Amino acid sequence: MNDAAQESAPHRAGFVTFVGRPNVGKSTLTNALVGEKVAITSSKPQTTRRAIRGIVHREHGQLVLVDTPGMHRPRTLLGERLNSVVQDTLAEVDVICFCVPADEKLGPGDRFINEQLEAYPRARRVALVTKVDKASKAAVAEQLLAVSSLRDWDTIIPVSALTNVQLDVLVDELVALMPESPPLYPAESVTEEQLEDRISELIREAALEGVQDELPHSIAVTVDDMIEREDKDLVEIYANLFVERDSQKGIIIGYKGERLREVGAAARAQIEPLVGSPVYLSLRVKVAKEWQRDPKQLGRLGF
Ligand code: GDP
Ligand code: MG
Repeated sequence: MNDAAQESAPHRAGFVTFVGRPNVGKSTLTNALVGEKVAITSSKPQTTRRAIRGIVHREHGQLVLVDTPGMHRPRTLLGERLNSVVQDTLAEVDVICFCVPADEKLGPGDRFINEQLEAYPRARRVALVTKVDKASKAAVAEQLLAVSSLRDWDTIIPVSALTNVQLDVLVDELVALMPESPPLYPAESVTEEQLEDRISELIREAALEGVQDELPHSIAVTVDDMIEREDKDLVEIYANLFVERDSQKGIIIGYKGERLREVGAAARAQIEPLVGSPVYLSLRVKVAKEWQRDPKQLGRLGF
């Protein structure tokens, strides 16, 4: 583009969401594009529970990224609520990016999600082949071909969030698909999430590390109090970590509280840069019996 064209380029802004099976790298991509950790990532499937808005700023455009919990067949009330979060999100966005990893063959799960996109004709549809750092060039090319046979995409882009491959290209392509609009958010904002919610998510992410089976889905975190000390450079954070059963409580706390201390230390290391000062983190583990199935408890935990 020459300078004159640059100057006359209209500002574009709108909403983008990433869909795809659990673990395909949606949250990692959101964070990489925003340049800051706004969505937690985990090798455990289905750990994203909120529609988080990360905001990407460019001179001529702004992307509001909405991270979703992912589409799956619900088994609990929590599952149902998460699905309706996804549907509400998809109905509103300008672009839906369908993500498949470069290192796994297309499967029934991918096809199921691709078919769901029919229900949202308003959105432009982009396919992303993620994690290209994990696959050979030939495998990436094969995956691009497989994905292109699914539907007539607006564009298909291979990316790696981890090794920063084609992320600028992705942003440019997405901006080009946005409607003409002034910026939707002020230039300095990176997310709409409340600080307390981001802190809760960082604690939940730390707690998810190393736990197995159904436990990841049983963990919920609330931040009950945040106190900025006036006498010294310290923020005190009081948080509760909920599990569903006494046996899970033991696992989280660990022998002589060792595991909980590790979780606290890992979470604190992530929270301190976010609040910009040293943090004292008090973590209490509580049992909220069967909270995933109980409407009252779901409400209390913020769902
Ligand atoms: P989501 O469930 O789709 O949100 O997936 P996450 O973003 O939580 O990522 C799932 C796992 O894949 C994590 O262990 C990430 O570190 C890993 N991952 C994500 N993006 C990449 C990538 O570009 N390259 C590689 N090698 N790993 C990635
Ligand atoms: Mg995620």
